Amino acid sequence: MVDLKRQYQHIKAEVDAAIQSVIDDTAFINGPEVTRFAEELAGNLGVKHVIPCANGTDALQIALMALGLQPGDEVITPSFTYIATVEVVALLRLKPVFVDVDKDTYTINAESLKQAITPNTKAIIPVHLYGQAANMEEILAIAGERNIPVIEDNAQAIGGDYTFSDGRKVKTGAMGLIGCTSFFPSKNLGCYGDGGAIFTSDDTLAAQIRMIANHGQSKKYYHEVVGCNSRLDAIQAAILRIKLRRLDQYCDARRRVADYYDAAFAGNPRIVTPFRAPYSRHVFHQYTLQLEGVDRDRVQEKLAERGVPSMIYYPVPCHKQNMFRGLGASEFDLPVTDFLQDRVISLPIHTELTGEELKFITSHVLQAVEESVLTEA
Ligand SMILES: *Cc1c(COP(=O)(O)O)cnc(C)c1O
Repeated sequence: MVDLKRQYQHIKAEVDAAIQSVIDDTAFINGPEVTRFAEELAGNLGVKHVIPCANGTDALQIALMALGLQPGDEVITPSFTYIATVEVVALLRLKPVFVDVDKDTYTINAESLKQAITPNTKAIIPVHLYGQAANMEEILAIAGERNIPVIEDNAQAIGGDYTFSDGRKVKTGAMGLIGCTSFFPSKNLGCYGDGGAIFTSDDTLAAQIRMIANHGQSKKYYHEVVGCNSRLDAIQAAILRIKLRRLDQYCDARRRVADYYDAAFAGNPRIVTPFRAPYSRHVFHQYTLQLEGVDRDRVQEKLAERGVPSMIYYPVPCHKQNMFRGLGASEFDLPVTDFLQDRVISLPIHTELTGEELKFITSHVLQAVEESVLTEA
């Protein structure tokens, strides 16, 4: 699905030197690389503060902790997302309230969101799934009227942007009160291990987030609140600085892959290619199709036989996961989520795919789909 080796070959000299320099300086924890990376990312996103942390899941957890929520407070999230978005809600003894997504953007549906809001709603977490920004203008308006904080899960959309109706262009992750991301290796801005970050332009909140990520510490050995230990390694920060400079280029490369796929599948009645919302630039963390009237398992088998990887993100929506059974999560009625869960399939996408590989993949996908059409009963 991804080829990190080839990407590394292009930046090897720079990365190797940066890693060596961290080792030479023995500044493994915090230190100048981490500070510089945070400043550079803040500049890139147009936010005042970037607080690096250990991974994207921690970023979401710390963001929720910083809001000072109470057990039982409701947090609205899509069910059609990676489990981390919701897991941290439950971990903090908050109540996940699942809402449906749009059939085209795969992100929070505004109507479903409105209906789910109660006086106990204390946060909303839109997810920019697969690299497509959620409709933030609508979400922020709904949340703003009711004074509900919005935390963006930007783990799949870093590098993307969003254009508001007044023409303002803002980076994904920089629109809500807080933004969270992951630097997991396969993400659009990935390091060579685990990493994550939290963004905000609110000074008070930034101080709180920093404190929570560092054992609730205000000054050394003085702890104000219960926090955690979540840090980005200096080696990872050094690698991320190099890759951040190429992020736009990486996003362009992903879009070129998506353009190729779109053209190859255009007009095929069995294949729905990804929708690109007019309000944002898709950064294609995933290239995800919907299959119509096709046996998806068979498509996957045939592709695997022919050496083409494919994945289902995600085979079980969050509200149907066993971990949430006790929370009555399965009672949520999310028809679009259910519909998508049976139909989506993601194809390989990364920055180094060649024309030849794309030709190979698309011809096999077209063939596998053709051979897996369901006959009417
Ligand atoms: C990857 C991901 C996360 C979690 O990131 P980790 O760094 O793996 O903890 C959270 N949300 C979404 C949508 C993700 O894709």
